[in-house]
Amino acid sequence: MGVKSSQKQNDLFDVRNRLKTQLVSDPKRTVFTKDGYKPVCAFCGLPIIGIAPMMHEVWITRGDVMGCDIPPSVTFTRENCVLLHPRCNVSVHTKRGQRHCKNFLVAAEGKPNIRKWLEKIDEYFKSDLVLAEIRELDSIS
Ligand SMILES: [Zn+2]
Repeated sequence: MGVKSSQKQNDLFDVRNRLKTQLVSDPKRTVFTKDGYKPVCAFCGLPIIGIAPMMHEVWITRGDVMGCDIPPSVTFTRENCVLLHPRCNVSVHTKRGQRHCKNFLVAAEGKPNIRKWLEKIDEYFKSDLVLAEIRELDSIS
């Protein structure tokens, strides 16, 4: 691995960690429990207590941008990421799990903000990937 690509890995790590720290204490994504405010799992809706939450990309994933020259800040955004119980992380790759996460993000961030973000990042993609996600966002009531 060259110096440039390991610097990229570090940036990715930083951006990811910063976002995760923000989401863990975001008022729209936490709930009050007997242990204080805890992040809510986007899949099951229960608080994440006593275990480190996993962060999952929902609309556009690292897999979608692999091999493309796209900055990490494109996918590690609050419009795109949710926190999950490690056990729920297994279920989010199903169609139903994806839908749960998308509904959660619409409730937390608002449809217009998510749409604005998707429209902004569309320029990085040569495929219709982002446009397909915009159509799906529009279908969520
Ligand atoms: Zn869960």
